[in-house]
Amino acid sequence: MDHFLSRDGELWAEDVPLSEIAAAVGTPVYVYSSATLLRHLSLFDEALHGMPHLVCFAVKALSNVAVLRLLGEAGAGMDVVSEGEYRRAVAAGVPGERIVFSGVGKTRAEMRAALTGGVRQFNLESEPEMRALSEVASSLGVTAPVAIRVNPDVDARTHAKIATGKSENKFGIPIAKAREAYREAASLPGLRVVGIDVHIGSQLTDLAPFEAAYRKVAELAGALRADGHAIERLDLGGGLGIPYTRSNEVPPLPSDYGEIIRRTVGPLGCEVVIEPGRLIAGNAGVLLSRVVYMKEGEGRDFLILDAAMNDLVRPAMYDAHHDIVPVREPEPGDLDRLYDVVGPRLRDGGTPSPAAAGCRRCARGDLVAFRSAGAYGAVMSSEYNSRPLVPEVLVQKDQFAVIRPRPSYEEMIAKDSIPAWL
Ligand SMILES: *Cc1c(COP(=O)(O)O)cnc(C)c1O
Repeated sequence: MDHFLSRDGELWAEDVPLSEIAAAVGTPVYVYSSATLLRHLSLFDEALHGMPHLVCFAVKALSNVAVLRLLGEAGAGMDVVSEGEYRRAVAAGVPGERIVFSGVGKTRAEMRAALTGGVRQFNLESEPEMRALSEVASSLGVTAPVAIRVNPDVDARTHAKIATGKSENKFGIPIAKAREAYREAASLPGLRVVGIDVHIGSQLTDLAPFEAAYRKVAELAGALRADGHAIERLDLGGGLGIPYTRSNEVPPLPSDYGEIIRRTVGPLGCEVVIEPGRLIAGNAGVLLSRVVYMKEGEGRDFLILDAAMNDLVRPAMYDAHHDIVPVREPEPGDLDRLYDVVGPRLRDGGTPSPAAAGCRRCARGDLVAFRSAGAYGAVMSSEYNSRPLVPEVLVQKDQFAVIRPRPSYEEMIAKDSIPAWL
């Protein structure tokens, strides 16, 4: 459920009409709903009720500092994969003891920054990384709390580009080699083993792969405890999918996911950390865009929008679908056609995005909203085609604020510099 609902024939974000935001900020623009973000966070809290737990928002899904502040103030921790994300979490006021540092390629500089600023734990992805962290922590005279990311070799049955839990993926240490890796971690100075980490992929719409993975983690926890390691925490990653289309089957609910966790790892008595990104942010955001032209083609009609692939890359990159809805509900007698929706450059070669059919009865100048665009939307936007970065707006009840302004053309161009010899 989200808080983008129709009222008086128009789509609103909470208590603000989207048309008001478009008039004030221009389009394209991302609009986020605070109530939806907080509701999704609380669903996970409720799902893990009665178990010691921390919900760490996966910052890579939506990294705006205002959003991190909102979630952090509601008690969320943060899962970060780079120093930039770590610094964003800190800038949002999230204490280090609630920040988990994940990611396959942590550099020594990044390790140093997190150890100095405070961190809950590092999720280690390889033996060389483990040795590097040992050296960095030792040189600083501190001890780094660590979990090792194990690869459970389960098929997450999601898009190949976002599946991470099969043995051929680059992520983590094969679960069969985990005991050896933990033995080394325990022997290295500057490291303290606190738990196990796993993350099998993103946009999973079936709970079976989670269950299979967490059973393996539970079994491993038992073996590692028998080997003498203090396994106090299980970091179970993110990955729960969301409905991208209203007509589709509803994916599993956080409460069902919580039941799987309770059933598989509950008896271990560990603190459970989860790292949802998409489920918290996805349906909490829309990309608001305006129809620039309506073009009649051979056998198909196009709506040409002011949002383009650089603003929302998911359809081109992941073959992703976003429902596109007119902000003003059509009136009887309005044009009634099915359009292919394209941005100025949604796809090279002019192929209409398969994601985008289904906007009925639009007119030039009308506003449309790409739904479910809150996660992996603004964070993956770029200036491709020299279109300034898309701005972001946060709504809370009847207020809204620009939380990242649209850069001017001058600001965009001023980032380049011409060498003295030219
Ligand atoms: C991407 C990622 C997440 C978040 O995944 P979602 O599918 O957005 O919930 C969590 N943890 C790790 C390690 C990740 O790489």
